[in-house]
Amino acid sequence: MEVTTEISASLLAQQLKILDKISLILGLDSSVREALATPERVIQVKIQVRDKSGKQRVYTGFRSQHNSALGPYKGGVRYSPKVNLEEVMALSMIMTWKNSLLKLPYGGGKGGINLDPRELDATELEKASRVFVREIYEYIGDELDIMAPDINTDSQTITWFMDEYERISRRRDRASFTGKPVELGGIATRVYSTGLGVANIAKLSAEKFIGGIEGKNVIIQGFGNVGSWTAKFLHEMGARIIGISDIYGGVINEKGINPNEALEYLSKTGTVANYPGRKVTNEELLLQQCDILIPAAVENVINKASAPLIKAKLVVEAANGPVTANADEILFSKGIPVIPDILTNSGGVVGSFVEWSNNRSGEIIDEDEAKRLILNRMKESFNSIYSRYEKQGEHNFRTIAMVEAVDRVVNAMRTRGQL
Ligand code: GLU
Repeated sequence: MEVTTEISASLLAQQLKILDKISLILGLDSSVREALATPERVIQVKIQVRDKSGKQRVYTGFRSQHNSALGPYKGGVRYSPKVNLEEVMALSMIMTWKNSLLKLPYGGGKGGINLDPRELDATELEKASRVFVREIYEYIGDELDIMAPDINTDSQTITWFMDEYERISRRRDRASFTGKPVELGGIATRVYSTGLGVANIAKLSAEKFIGGIEGKNVIIQGFGNVGSWTAKFLHEMGARIIGISDIYGGVINEKGINPNEALEYLSKTGTVANYPGRKVTNEELLLQQCDILIPAAVENVINKASAPLIKAKLVVEAANGPVTANADEILFSKGIPVIPDILTNSGGVVGSFVEWSNNRSGEIIDEDEAKRLILNRMKESFNSIYSRYEKQGEHNFRTIAMVEAVDRVVNAMRTRGQL
């Protein structure tokens, strides 16, 4: 019963539990903890679009602006039937910590629409995207809230957002959104920057914890933008991808999966679930023997029930919130390091920062420079967390990263007189 409760417990409950722990370590009193837990603004709007058959479809769009002590809100927008108010609130909080940890001049925000993109064609998706921006127009912008892609959204979605925004403002405003196509001010790295960052953090942690990345067996749950690019980069680094999955299921192939062939297979069949190998469910995939396990899909997949059964030597969180608070403790007690989301998947938002800076400073950064900036920023953060980790063995990697991230936000709020 308890296990079921934990599995279905919201991401928000998980995040609040983590925040409680960090507040205790930092000695924050309950009013400070409350101020950190409460989003500054949450917007909910009705999104109505008429589909091709003439039927009105009604969806709900959300934007949670969690904290802006360090700068304008920053974070993605996801399209999924599972999107709900609590989820975006939790995700916006994760963005606050992520941006703080990476020392970006941003607060945290997150949004979403509870639509299933598989049920809508491009015209309908465009309509929904434009309505969303119209409804939240006053609350977004380059120094207010900068939106970016997330699950099921991409440079096309961002272009619709930006175009609608610019029609209303009657001026070009490239820095108001990130994840744009290159010809509209995007940077070439943005499409792969999250995966590049994940692969590099996996490599750095493999070097510290399991003797290097070469020849190591890797399982990746989720083969979307993040999972597939991570697989490609790790493959190039000499790791062996032995398991992949998507929402339809997964496959294990101990001989190694070539990510490029898997991508080709995906584009032909629409899924990797039937790729040659042993078929497994998404739950089974996580429990297979491997060196590095990379959950790159959705939240709460490694929980109290599955954590004791994990056989990986290292868990690298590419999704936001894939390991629950209880599971984190269990893995720590089993001696399995968990490299947290706020560091691991920060390549996306660090890439966004490079893009935003580039738009504001005259478009002088090229792809190589962008790549270098992203990797350096993430490596610095990894090294700083690792050196503290070595000194204070009693805390896990996430705790150390979170302490640093929360502390920076608390200091900014204190200086502003908010605490
Ligand atoms: N959606 C990504 C994330 O969760 C990127 C956000 C951004 O670039 O603003 O970190």
